[in-house]
Amino acid sequence: MEKDKMFCYQCSQAVKGVGCVTAGVCGKSPTLARLQDNLIHSIQGMSGYLYRARRIGFAQPLPEIDEFVSRAFYSMFTNVNFDPESFIDLAVESGRMNLKVMKLLKVAYIEQYGEPEPTIVPSGVKKGKGIIITGHGLKVLEELLKQTEGTGINIYTHSEMLPAHAYPELKKYKHLVGNLGKAWHDQRRLFSKYPFAVLATSNCVLLPRKEYQDRIFTTGPVRLPGVKHISGYDYSPVIEKAMSLPEVDEASGETVLTTGFSRSVILSMKNSIKELIEAGRLRHILLVGGCDSPTTKMQYYREFVSLLPEDTLVLTLGCGKYRFNDLDLGHIEGVPRLIDLGQCNDAIVAIDIAASLCEFLGISVAELPFTPVLCWMNQDAVSILWSLIALGIPRIYLGPVLPAWANEEILEVLKSRHGVSFISDPKEDIQRILG
Ligand code: SF4
Ligand code: SF4
Repeated sequence: MEKDKMFCYQCSQAVKGVGCVTAGVCGKSPTLARLQDNLIHSIQGMSGYLYRARRIGFAQPLPEIDEFVSRAFYSMFTNVNFDPESFIDLAVESGRMNLKVMKLLKVAYIEQYGEPEPTIVPSGVKKGKGIIITGHGLKVLEELLKQTEGTGINIYTHSEMLPAHAYPELKKYKHLVGNLGKAWHDQRRLFSKYPFAVLATSNCVLLPRKEYQDRIFTTGPVRLPGVKHISGYDYSPVIEKAMSLPEVDEASGETVLTTGFSRSVILSMKNSIKELIEAGRLRHILLVGGCDSPTTKMQYYREFVSLLPEDTLVLTLGCGKYRFNDLDLGHIEGVPRLIDLGQCNDAIVAIDIAASLCEFLGISVAELPFTPVLCWMNQDAVSILWSLIALGIPRIYLGPVLPAWANEEILEVLKSRHGVSFISDPKEDIQRILG
């Protein structure tokens, strides 16, 4: 069976000098190899968040994270650790470490830009020249906003940069005028459509079409072949390019999005939420979102959210939210039913909210009517999954495709030990979740 296969070529014993694909010459089993791959992915996800925190100025040493990362990577050396159980433990530990990293990234963002506040974001274009900024790099956006102030260039966010509109120290710039497009995978069509310069700040970026290859720029860790890269924070080449391109006419967008529900905003409604839960008028809180991927299977999430009964709330984050964030879910007695918490790393905000509600309601996390239903695409989502597992969240739904690194043995552990289910039919899943 395909899922019993593995691939490892990390030492000279690799079969035929190519790779071990059914079992390791060293004795490594497919399950062990896959658990090691999973651990690498989880650490990669956490590293993205730590990188962003460092970029924004978080300079303190993190000995606990350093110790964990070196121990985890060393455990994966050839002939060190043959115990699959210990790699499950390491994955859970990676989730715990990721919680710390997501928290310090959030603190760094709030210290720098203030706590997000609910903000309406238009999706059309203003008359004039423009720059589209994509990715997660708020620091890059801040520097770009400073350098373009007074130039007449309009700045548009794309994909995971949408939540930037809600941070007071970023939204104060009047030329941050809106958000274009949806999740990361619409970028080739979107960047071709508008005659704007484009600045890519992080994952998830795609190899460009020739239509915009000469007007897209990368910065930070991002590199694209044949595309100008900017080290540091001087975005003059992007600004010059934007100035050389034609103006667009004003055009309104099809949707108006609301983002920026911070922990404080939600907790300011905690009395109402408590009353609603106790009176049975709020049955369940769902965390629906994560990483979007370009597959028709992702339509599940729109259908799922559309079918949820009116006594449920949806917290959302990541670019998975674009599957349904144009829906008007209304309110439950003043509490909005669709609450956009921000980027995927804002999973920490959802976790903080759940923990604070438990404390306020005097119940355990297992008793809270709360279920994450997460779409996963890349490594960020893997580390967030292990963070939720590390917290002991009792029910987690995951899709639209099974984790490719997992075989039957690993899936069984995720299901039986960690309460992970895989999404199936939206109606049936809603019934399973709500009982
Ligand atoms: S570490 Fe083991 S599984 Fe990997 S290449 Fe070497 S012998 Fe094969
Ligand atoms: S939420 Fe995930 S898939 Fe979407 S842009 Fe962020 S990292 Fe990429």
